[in-house]
Amino acid sequence: MLLAWVAVTDYVARGAAAALDSLAFIMLVFLCVTLHEFGHITMGRRFGVKTPEVILSPIGGIANMERIPEKPSEELLVAVAGPLVNVAIAIVMMLVFRLDPRQLATIDIATAPLAQRLLLVNVMLVLFNLIPAFPMDGGRVLRAVLAMFMEARKATALAVQIGQVFAFVFVLIGLVRFDFVLLLIGVFIYIAGASEEQSAAFRGFASRLKVKDAMEASPATLSASAPLSQAIETLLASPQREFPVLDGSRLVGLLDRNAMLAGLRDLGAESAIGNAMAEAQPVLPDEPLVDAFTRMRQNGASAAVVVGPSGQVIGLLTQENVAEMMMIESARPGWRFQR
Ligand code: ZN
Repeated sequence: MLLAWVAVTDYVARGAAAALDSLAFIMLVFLCVTLHEFGHITMGRRFGVKTPEVILSPIGGIANMERIPEKPSEELLVAVAGPLVNVAIAIVMMLVFRLDPRQLATIDIATAPLAQRLLLVNVMLVLFNLIPAFPMDGGRVLRAVLAMFMEARKATALAVQIGQVFAFVFVLIGLVRFDFVLLLIGVFIYIAGASEEQSAAFRGFASRLKVKDAMEASPATLSASAPLSQAIETLLASPQREFPVLDGSRLVGLLDRNAMLAGLRDLGAESAIGNAMAEAQPVLPDEPLVDAFTRMRQNGASAAVVVGPSGQVIGLLTQENVAEMMMIESARPGWRFQR
């Protein structure tokens, strides 16, 4: 859609040649962003971290790494590997196209030749990522450096605070100068900082836990052939909100409160539970909590069913339960959750 939009607007305003030039430019920018992400990914692989997904968005790329290396020195190397790729691209371009670094400041992003614009983009990618605030690479560099001198959790908290000072300054300047983009970046940094702190806290305590430490054991279950009215009665009689649905003793689905209400409204109270349920997301009791929980959130499920070796339901892992554990952890860090 972005490419189509750029091509159409440029074609209408400036003709076919300009549209082609803009298309080439945008695609090359995304290529540079992708190479930047592969800088992070390749360095991550050296420390045994896989990256199953890279997201390219109009405001940049995100490499969704499976985990962040524990050692601060490794996180530091992974964080700087991305911007270093753009430094390398910029140097190669300056050599190949015989561009003088002193000309950089005079390049006009709207009118300069393609090569010069691309060079400028790479320099901007480096500078933007040097801002010491999450989600920019500079924020990770800062956290890694701080973590060499203090506990990981404190390093994250301090890095987030420093990042939020930057966010505040951006918002302030954005407001004073009516600069909408700066304002947006400030808000973006502020939100990213808060979510980074949360996910670091989650990783901190979840890394030592398995699914069985966080699950609710022996949850109430429903039968797929029973009417929805029975599900409603079970909902009212128990504090549980998500129910594994069984066919005999076999797990066939999951029915949560929202699906129950939607079924009640659209299908009626006498319809079978099996018609209203969603797919169950089975997890194993000995699976690391971080993996199971991440998968659950990616699937947009509010709960996952914990199944034993022969497929029998032995527990329920809910977002709510994990959220409660995080509250306990923040009230008393290092709480022993292991069962
Ligand atoms: Zn990066």
